[in-house]
Amino acid sequence: MFTPPLYKQRYQFVKDLVEKHQPRKVADLGCADCSLLWTLKFCKCIEELVGLDISEYEMKDNMHRLAPLPCDYLQPSTRYFSVTMYQGSVAVKDPVLLNFDMVSSIELIEHLESAELEMFPEVVFGFMAPALVVISTPNFDFNHLLPKSTLFRHPDHKFEWRRVEFQNWGLNVADRYDYSVEFTGVGSPPADAEDVGFCTQIAVFTRNYMETVEMVNNKSGTKHVYKTVFQIVHPSLQDEKYLRIAVVNETMHQVERIKRSLWNDGRPVEKEGDPQHLNTERKHCPFSDANKWRKNYAPSEAETNAQKAGCGPVLRKNKVYIPLQYLFCIPKLQQLCGTFEVLLKMIAGKIHLNHDGSAVKVKVEVDHDASLISES
Ligand code: SAM
Repeated sequence: MFTPPLYKQRYQFVKDLVEKHQPRKVADLGCADCSLLWTLKFCKCIEELVGLDISEYEMKDNMHRLAPLPCDYLQPSTRYFSVTMYQGSVAVKDPVLLNFDMVSSIELIEHLESAELEMFPEVVFGFMAPALVVISTPNFDFNHLLPKSTLFRHPDHKFEWRRVEFQNWGLNVADRYDYSVEFTGVGSPPADAEDVGFCTQIAVFTRNYMETVEMVNNKSGTKHVYKTVFQIVHPSLQDEKYLRIAVVNETMHQVERIKRSLWNDGRPVEKEGDPQHLNTERKHCPFSDANKWRKNYAPSEAETNAQKAGCGPVLRKNKVYIPLQYLFCIPKLQQLCGTFEVLLKMIAGKIHLNHDGSAVKVKVEVDHDASLISES
């Protein structure tokens, strides 16, 4: 018995490697029920995640867990993120396997027939040639510490290697394909049996050379044979459709907040055009708690500076005019849009502006209970 369970330790090992090396494209070979892929889904550096397994049935069970959640649509991520699952064999080359930064193969090789095992290094290290490869397999030296039932840990295992066998295989592969390799593992042995090594043995291979575009292009003519089982692109702010929704929503939210901030400002009315003339009704203000008001509606430092520079919101009659330049100084909107031109483009036709298109125009009305009713 291991705490955390051995499979979780393996996933954590791969996740730590991802966090350390920050690959953008990761493929998991022999991904089975997608559990490792699901764990990796939360690594922010990954933009493309691919799973491959010979068994479509295994993959289909849990594939839906890789789809976006409703909250992913409500708050799209800033990164591009896609997940693709292929049915096919690791013993066969397919151009969809090219251009990966990292490949994981967790508890797969011991399931391969000898002919497949023979091809595996050529597919992974020769054809795919990612910068980083992590391979795990059971350590046969450990087996006598496990409850004894069969020779191998699983009936489908074609072999289980001793540490020396795995290390010989790994060193040979590294030498043949110009990689460096380090051996480690997860699942520590008990204190009185430390010489057996880890329960799961792991090899981490690092490519020694730079792969050029030309090298990849030379391999890309290979015939496409894998079957695409699942493909999904998560909502992302890189997609203009989602960026537009996010910018419009944020603009509406900020407009509402600014309007409320004007309403609750305690300065007396002096002249038409001063934002505070609504404060004649202040005794009814629903936000009499100053701290609560400050937290929810008070202008930020950037807004205060913009107001001082003369480009703050203005209240005329029953309308608030909020200059777009003023809105753009709000960090969240600036972060979303990047440039003022993008803000203009995203809200065009979606938000009501004044006659020259320089400010958002919002109507405000005060009812007898002094609550603010608005339409924008
Ligand atoms: N990697 C998974 C994990 O860590 O949760 C578990 C892998 S499971 C023990 C082995 C997987 O290898 C099975 O899902 C099996 O279908 C797959 N497999 C076996 N032979 C394969 C082949 N030639 N190509 C691709 N996948 C294969």
